Amino acid sequence: MNQFQYVRPTKTKAAIEALAKDANAQFIAGGTNLLDLMKRGVMTPPRLIDINRLPLDKIEKAEAGLRIGALVLNSTVAEDKLVRERHPLLAQALAAGASAQLRNMATVGGNMLQRTRCSYFYDTAMPCNKREPGSGCGALEGHNRMHAIFGFSDKCIAVHPSDMSVVLVALDAAVLLSGPKGERRLAFSDLHRLPGDTPQRDTNLEPGELILGVEIPDSPFTRHVHYLKVRERASYAFALVSVAAALSLDGNTIKDARLAMGGVAHKPWRLSAAEKSLIGKPATEATFRQAAELAMQGAKAFKHNAYKLQLAPNTIVQALKNAAASA
Ligand code: SF4
Repeated sequence: MNQFQYVRPTKTKAAIEALAKDANAQFIAGGTNLLDLMKRGVMTPPRLIDINRLPLDKIEKAEAGLRIGALVLNSTVAEDKLVRERHPLLAQALAAGASAQLRNMATVGGNMLQRTRCSYFYDTAMPCNKREPGSGCGALEGHNRMHAIFGFSDKCIAVHPSDMSVVLVALDAAVLLSGPKGERRLAFSDLHRLPGDTPQRDTNLEPGELILGVEIPDSPFTRHVHYLKVRERASYAFALVSVAAALSLDGNTIKDARLAMGGVAHKPWRLSAAEKSLIGKPATEATFRQAAELAMQGAKAFKHNAYKLQLAPNTIVQALKNAAASA
């Protein structure tokens, strides 16, 4: 591992100022992804700004929803009474992410900023436009079983790995930011980017911005919800495909719906057209199958991930069936 400086501010302003002094510096909280990347030489920040002493570790009621600080641990969010009552879909997704040990270290802010698990990104001997812009994409013609079927470019076909982020997109959350230009709110759906010509940029954060937390608006999606994660083994694996499904039902009629997928694109993939198609319809398998077909329009596979073209719609249907049946 390269040598680096380490500072541990206690105030948000001081943390932002510390980052402004060096464009290559990095914030660190749980470190569950960043330290791996540093050990492998994928990221070599000269300066780490440990933000664990900042006052960003609360879950509290906000004006129109729930505010979760960036430093709240994933395990704390998953077990929190308010979260489980108001946003059980979020609790499900967090419980499905990583191992218990990792959930006890990883923070909400770090979860949303974790980097792709594309194996070429982690192997510094291989070309990767995300790690080294202009070097090429090893996955395009390589081993691409885990890769995207939506929103990719000829520069990068990686997928975003966070389960939590899929639910935050589905629930219309906002991310709260502070940076050299002041504070701002960003729709969670605008936090992550598609790769385009600049796959080295995962997010739309401005230079020097710090994530303070997320706000999730109150919603009727407190009963009929299901996060379905399909993976290669039952624990501690990233999603091949995941679906966050939430229904608001009046008897068996769908009043409102939320749907988003993970493991299919460079960002959490909201299925807005499929959501709209569900409203006013009966909660039946035929309705869910029609929505899944709509959701898959525009999907395109590579040599090794064509299975996702079938797995993804089947996962949507099953997640909606589970959501309708849950209470
Ligand atoms: Fe790198 Fe993206 Fe290609 Fe993976 S898919 S090798 S992360 S450029």
